[in-house]
Amino acid sequence: MEQEPEILIAGKEKKGREMTPDEQLAEWVKGNSIHNDTTGECCPDFSCCQPKLGIPIEQRLLFQRSGQRVRYEMLGMFLGAAIAGLTEGKEMKVYIAEDEPG
Ligand SMILES: [Zn+2]
Repeated sequence: MEQEPEILIAGKEKKGREMTPDEQLAEWVKGNSIHNDTTGECCPDFSCCQPKLGIPIEQRLLFQRSGQRVRYEMLGMFLGAAIAGLTEGKEMKVYIAEDEPG
């Protein structure tokens, strides 16, 4: 079985809170983009660290209700938007990590 790649974008400072990924997803779907300090991960659309990347609630619901395959397609789109944002603001660091320990 191949390990699924992990996509992480870290903001300059920690401004999230400690919670489970499920809690983070539930808050995100309600419109509260909160960086997860437990896992060090952004919301799927990275809007916790880059508010302008936030997607509409309907799309967040679609993401939440979708299976893994659709989720990864959507994540690819969000990452594309995030990388496009890089060339503008140059405020983010992008890490694409595979097989990251821990
Ligand atoms: Zn974040």
